[in-house]
Amino acid sequence: MYESLRLQIQTLSAGRCRLLAVSKLQPAAAVRALYARGQRAFGENYVQEALLKQQALADLPGLEWHLIGPLQSNKAALAAQHFDWVQSLDRLKLVPLLGAARPDGLAPLNVLIQVNVDGQAGKAGCSPQLLPDLVVAIRAQPRLRLRGLMAIPAPDPDMTVRAGAFRALAGLFHPLAQHHPDMDTLSMGMSADYPLAIECGATLVRLGTALFGPR
Ligand SMILES: *Cc1c(COP(=O)(O)O)cnc(C)c1O
Repeated sequence: MYESLRLQIQTLSAGRCRLLAVSKLQPAAAVRALYARGQRAFGENYVQEALLKQQALADLPGLEWHLIGPLQSNKAALAAQHFDWVQSLDRLKLVPLLGAARPDGLAPLNVLIQVNVDGQAGKAGCSPQLLPDLVVAIRAQPRLRLRGLMAIPAPDPDMTVRAGAFRALAGLFHPLAQHHPDMDTLSMGMSADYPLAIECGATLVRLGTALFGPR
């Protein structure tokens, strides 16, 4: 299953898209098993759960941890200390908190700006109008490295609606990526819609259920 998924993603994207294994609510043993088959990048939604898992897996070199769940301000310092990527940066307030807490001994924290690209009420993600301000603020932080954009479009049963959301995110991403060579990551697509997301330009798909089964 893992190998065929990786091959499918590689084929669909002509090698442009990476796979993030979303291990939230899965035991550390499940991460360890996938690691043994070559997977290195894992996504977690909850900071505390991730910290416990990281401790249980501290013997594995080269793991790359992504925070993909909503980030509360009071967890920003922990996130900056214990993750390699934060994909859910969606408001200005988080920028100095993450930048100040990133330890000097670690590489700059990779961040993605999460965009509420289809205007879902009450959902995480910044409005597209706020993007320019966030880009400027993040790039002013030496301990942060802005790598791109992330979105979680509404799970509309109509795939043309989802494609519209993916294309809208890609449309925000490409002009930014042209100006900022560091911005190389477009994180969109989950188990139910990753082939479509790749077709729309995703460079990172986030798969949980398709890899691990139901949570
Ligand atoms: C849970 C989650 C995923 C994975 O969802 P699946 O449908 O299980 O693939 C991807 N991205 C985010 C932000 C998530 O919270």
